[in-house]
Amino acid sequence: MVGVFEEAVINAKGAADYVGKKTGEFVELSKLRIAASEVEKKIDYEYLELGKMVYKAAKEHTDCTEYVGEKAAAIDALFVEHAELSHKISDLRNLKKCSQCAYENPQEADYCLKCGTKL
Ligand SMILES: [Zn+2]
Repeated sequence: MVGVFEEAVINAKGAADYVGKKTGEFVELSKLRIAASEVEKKIDYEYLELGKMVYKAAKEHTDCTEYVGEKAAAIDALFVEHAELSHKISDLRNLKKCSQCAYENPQEADYCLKCGTKL
């Protein structure tokens, strides 16, 4: 038979485990959000650099096609990285993100609650 004291200890341990798990999730979520925001900053920076280069090429009548292609590929890679981070964030929050409109649906939803796309 489990006494009142033992029961209290078991409950306290369970609560501590639960809080520990939630804290871990919160820390992980914060890290992912920071990483996603860093990638957003990188994307903005790459766009800025791309704009500067195109402007310079226009002024100097030089060809920047190759450079634009490289920058576009770098930006695309950052978008992929950002999408992966967003996906992880949604997973951790137990939400399903719609591929069409990005609405965050509850895990049990089969269709997007906003636009009706199959999830
Ligand atoms: Zn949708």
